[in-house]
Amino acid sequence: MRINVVKSFLPPKEDYNKYLDQIWDSHWLTNNGPLLLELEKELKNYLKSDKLLFLANGTVALQLAIKSLGLKGEIITTPYSYCATTTSIIWENCIPRFADISPDNLNINPDLIEGLINENTSAILATHVYGLPCDVDQIESLSKKYNIPVIYDAAHAFGVSLNNRSLLDYGDISTCSFHATKVFHTTEGGLVLCHDDKIFDKLSLYRSFGHVNDNYYDIGINAKNSEFHAAMGLANLPYLNSNIAKRKIVSERYDNLLNFNHIQKPFNNLSGLIYNYAYYPIILENASVCNQVIEALNKEDIFPRRYFYPSLNTLNYSKSTDSCPISESIVHRVLSIPLYPELELMIVDKIAEIINQVVVH
Ligand SMILES: *Cc1c(COP(=O)(O)O)cnc(C)c1O
Repeated sequence: MRINVVKSFLPPKEDYNKYLDQIWDSHWLTNNGPLLLELEKELKNYLKSDKLLFLANGTVALQLAIKSLGLKGEIITTPYSYCATTTSIIWENCIPRFADISPDNLNINPDLIEGLINENTSAILATHVYGLPCDVDQIESLSKKYNIPVIYDAAHAFGVSLNNRSLLDYGDISTCSFHATKVFHTTEGGLVLCHDDKIFDKLSLYRSFGHVNDNYYDIGINAKNSEFHAAMGLANLPYLNSNIAKRKIVSERYDNLLNFNHIQKPFNNLSGLIYNYAYYPIILENASVCNQVIEALNKEDIFPRRYFYPSLNTLNYSKSTDSCPISESIVHRVLSIPLYPELELMIVDKIAEIINQVVVH
């Protein structure tokens, strides 16, 4: 049996069918239907926020965030994330400037942000990579000092809280992805959350082509999501906490078994952090050991992923001369190993054993 880095959670079929029955009754398939409104209500409750929108995906959420803030010129961002963090900046005709990451939590190093700020800087766009929080306090003080907004790509951070506040509540705007591979998913889907009424109105307008009935205000895009996706979200949300608890058990098993004399793991020792166990990344000593680990696992039909690779400043379309030695080194020796709620502990034991055997040689 093939073991992948993730296996999408599916709720009991009856749970989903209950919502499908409602769709068949209402004949309302998309465009702010009753299930979408119900999901948004649940999310508002869960995230303790009243300014959020359910969207088609997490990438368009980033694009709408950049657009709604009217960003121009340079945006300071992390080289260590999924490519969508960078492509959304370039897609919106802005220039990514890359500040290298901290070696401990692999998030943008706030001490390096300030050196990149100049008169063309319009914002900071940072990722809470693996759901581990960025240094939100230091980033906020830079934001205030230079009067530039902060967007967080919180694609990995659903279910994470810091000091009793959802991590998605930090920054001027946070975006999230509800893609099938994420901790909470709606098959495809995303979220944008903000704090300002004017920004919220813009985001709402841009989500639906820039018009309300016969009033055409601005150019928009189609970033809406359907009743079917909302149904998946409504069916999945009640399982979020138990899924996170199961992820925690798997993660702690790896913590107990892996040989940390030869393996590093990003960490965040912030007090007040409640984590979602979104990923289990390991950092090997060098690229060769990393390749050997991949090979040894593949031989047993186990498929880790290079999350994240490559360092985004090295993508040719980034056209960047910023140097990010830590990110550029990590991407060649980091692997996310299988982690999902239903992963059997026997398999976790086997994965850990295979990895340990490679790293000690
Ligand atoms: C998954 C992901 C995205 C993109 O989300 P989609 O919903 O797949 O568009 C953006 N940023 C990060 C960090 C991600 O992991």
